[in-house]
Amino acid sequence: GSGLVLDGVTKRYSSVTALQPISIEIAPGEFFSLIGPSGSGKSTLLGAIAGFIPPSAGRILIDGRDIVDIPPYRRNIGMVFQNYALFPHLTVFENVAFALRLRKLSKAEVTEKTQRMLDVIRLSGMGERRISELSGGQQQRVALARAAVYDPRILLMDEPLGALDKNLREEMQYEIKAFHNKIAATIIYVTHDQEEAAAMSDRIAIMKDGEIVQHGKPRELYEHP
Ligand code: ADP
Ligand code: ADP
Repeated sequence: GSGLVLDGVTKRYSSVTALQPISIEIAPGEFFSLIGPSGSGKSTLLGAIAGFIPPSAGRILIDGRDIVDIPPYRRNIGMVFQNYALFPHLTVFENVAFALRLRKLSKAEVTEKTQRMLDVIRLSGMGERRISELSGGQQQRVALARAAVYDPRILLMDEPLGALDKNLREEMQYEIKAFHNKIAATIIYVTHDQEEAAAMSDRIAIMKDGEIVQHGKPRELYEHP
């Protein structure tokens, strides 16, 4: 099978079960949201997929391969955080180029791919700016570009709009949708905002107490004829 498969993924901390066994398949290119109240296990599940929270049991497969058998730098998973986690002392260009430099691409390739990504986020004239000189929305676009520049198969987003005010949130929802249409990645998007999830997602999973209690297309979940 292809795509991302969670097969009985479980996480226990000493006294807390953060994830009950979770099994679900996410198709390549899908925009998949996780919603649920604080403490329901969304971040733990995202961390397990990202590879920094080892599950207590179960497997996570990408195109049929268990991620524990794939070296971290080959997993092709990118991540966007609520606080952006940009490098404040580097320029826009250097922030976006970072993952390419780590992967030791040639100088020409770094320049080409970084410029292309700056075009996608409409910051092509701003490569030499420092992060502190950008607005919140621009910083969020740099974070998207930095996570997507090396063509990850899967992009994980943990409340990426949580730090923005309401008007900017709505604008950035369109921005992220347009971005998803331009890159060929699966997006797994964590939010506690039901309207945001409904507006953006192909499919939504509702989490409660470490379980996915319901999942489906937005209209299946939220419209009751
Ligand atoms: P297909 O390629 O048509 O999806 P497969 O027989 O490869 O058919 O897989 C059937 C389903 O089971 C697929 O949707 C796939 O994502 C899922 N799957 C494949 N391998 C595994 C696995 N090792 N553990 C859990 N689910 C899997
Ligand atoms: P959400 O992202 O939905 O707010 P989390 O995944 O952060 O939920 O947390 C799920 C549960 O696991 C909560 O009960 C939380 O307190 C617990 N938890 C998360 N991380 C740890 C940890 N490092 N140690 C112990 N318990 C944790």
